[in-house]
Amino acid sequence: MYYLVILSTYFKFVYKPTPMTNKMLQFVDIGQQNPPKRDKSQRKEDFGEIYYEEAYHLSQSTNNMPEVCGRICPQDRLCEGNCVIEQSGHGTVTIGSIEKYLTDKAWENGWVKPIKVKIENEQSVGIIGAGPAGLACGEELRKKGYQVTIYDRYDRAGGLLIYGIPNFKLEKHVVERRIKLLKDGGINFINNFEVGKDSTLKELQSKHDAILISTGVYKPREVNLPGNDLGNIFPAMEFLTASNKKGLGDKVEMFDNGTLNAEGKDVVVIGGGDTAMDCVRTSVRQKAKSVKCLYRRDRENMPGSAREVGNAEEEGVEFIWLSNPKEFKGSNKVKSIIVDKMKLTDPDESGRRKPIVEENSEFEIKADLVIKSLGFDPEDLPILFQEPRLKVSQWGTIKADFDTLETSIPGVFSAGDIVRGASLVVWAIKDGRDAATSIESFLQSKQKMKVA
Ligand SMILES: Cc1cc2nc3c(=O)[nH]c(=O)nc-3n(C[C@H](O)[C@H](O)[C@H](O)COP(=O)(O)OP(=O)(O)OC[C@H]3O[C@@H](n4cnc5c(N)ncnc54)[C@H](O)[C@@H]3O)c2cc1C
Ligand code: SF4
Repeated sequence: MYYLVILSTYFKFVYKPTPMTNKMLQFVDIGQQNPPKRDKSQRKEDFGEIYYEEAYHLSQSTNNMPEVCGRICPQDRLCEGNCVIEQSGHGTVTIGSIEKYLTDKAWENGWVKPIKVKIENEQSVGIIGAGPAGLACGEELRKKGYQVTIYDRYDRAGGLLIYGIPNFKLEKHVVERRIKLLKDGGINFINNFEVGKDSTLKELQSKHDAILISTGVYKPREVNLPGNDLGNIFPAMEFLTASNKKGLGDKVEMFDNGTLNAEGKDVVVIGGGDTAMDCVRTSVRQKAKSVKCLYRRDRENMPGSAREVGNAEEEGVEFIWLSNPKEFKGSNKVKSIIVDKMKLTDPDESGRRKPIVEENSEFEIKADLVIKSLGFDPEDLPILFQEPRLKVSQWGTIKADFDTLETSIPGVFSAGDIVRGASLVVWAIKDGRDAATSIESFLQSKQKMKVA
C-alpha cells in the first residue's frame, strides 16, 4: 500500500514524459496498420519468390512429364520418403501432388507449348519403343533440331503409360496430350511397327544416324503348376491392357464377351508387386464379387508400395500373406486354387528371408479368374532383332555403357527398363534424357568426321 502511494505521487509530480515516451504512448493509440504490399518483382528480388508459370518451367526443366510422375511415382519410397519434414515426424511436403497441380495448371493455361526448333539438323535418330524412356529421349533430341522417328509395335504411343498403368492412377488423356504435343513439335511416330518383324535392327540403322532401343520388358514370368492350361488364367498385362483399351473406347472382344472382365467373379491375383496391386484394384473397379491377393512372403517383405497395399485393403481386397499356389483346379475353366501356407527362414548372408512351404498346410480357395503377376523378363532381343552383336546380361537386359548408355554396337544406345530391368517411369525418363545427351555427342563427332 505504502509503495503504491509513492508510485502514484511519482507519476503525478515527478514523472515528465520524454519525446520518445510520448511517441510510444501515441503509438498504442493507433489502430493496427498493415505495411503496403510490395509488388511481385520486389518480393521476387528480396525472397526469390516464384509464381505458377515459373514454378512450372522449373519443374519441367528436369522432367519431361512432371504431371505423369506427380501422379504415379511411388513418392513414399522416393522424394516424399526422403523429405526431412517427414523424417522429423511432421508429415511430408506432398511433392508429387504439387508437381501434378503445377503441370495441370500449366496445361490449362496454355503454358505447355510444342517444341519450336530454331535450326533444323538433318541428322536423324530412330527410337524403338514409345514408352517414357523413348519419349523423353526423343523430346530432348528434337529440341536440339534432330529429326526423330519413334517406332512402336503397339497401335498407340506411350508404352506402359498407356496400356500398363490403369486409368484410375494415370488418366489416359494425360498421356495422349503429351504425345500430341510431341507430334506437334515435329517428332514422327510410326505405330504398329515391330522391330524384328517389320525390320531388322540393321535395316533400321541404315535409315538413321543413331538408334535408341527403349523397348521395355514384357515377357511375363511364369508359374508352371498343374492346371496351368485351364481357361480364365491370364498374365497381368493381358488383363490390364484389355481394361485400358476398353477405357480408351476400343472394342475389346475378350473383355466384351466377359472373359477378361472381372465383374461378378471371384478373382485371385498371384504376386506382391505394384503390377499385382494394379490388377487387384482394377478388379475392384470392374465390380468383382471378391478379390484376393496371394503373396508368398509377408507384408513387411513384399516388393510393392505400402501405400498401394493400404489403398487396396481400403477398397476391400483381401491379402493372403505367406501363401503360394500349388495347383489350379477345374474342368475347362479354373474353379479353385490349392494353396500352400509358407513360412520365412532366418535371414541368409544377403539378409533376405526365404519363403519355404509349411508342411501339411494346404488349403483351397475359390477362383474363377486368376491373374498371374510375377514380374517381367526381357525378350531375347539379339534373336528378335537378328543382331548377335547386341550384347545382353545374364538376365537378358541390354548391356549398355554405364556412362554413355551406348550398347555393344557403335551408334546404338539403350535406355529404360530394357537396361535396368522392370523399374519406374521416373528412371526411364532420366535414362532417356541421359541417352539423348550421349546421342548428341555421338552425332556431333559423326558430323565432324564427315566434314573433315
Ligand atoms: C502394370 C504396371 C504398372 C506400373 N505402375 C507404375 C507406377 O505406378 N509408377 C511407376 O513409376 N512405374 C510403374 N510401372 C513401371 C513403368 O511403367 C516402367 O518402368 C516404364 O514404363 C518403363 O519405361 P520404358 O520406356 O523403358 O518401357 P515401356 O514403357 O515398357 O515402353 C516400351 C515400348 O516399346 C515398345 N516395343 C517393345 N518391343 C518393341 C519392338 N520390337 N518394336 C517396336 N516397339 C517395341 C512397346 O510396345 C512399348 O510401347 C508399372 C509397370 C507395369 C507393368
Ligand atoms: S519425379 Fe521425383 S520429385 Fe517428382 S514425384 Fe517423382 S520422385 Fe517425386
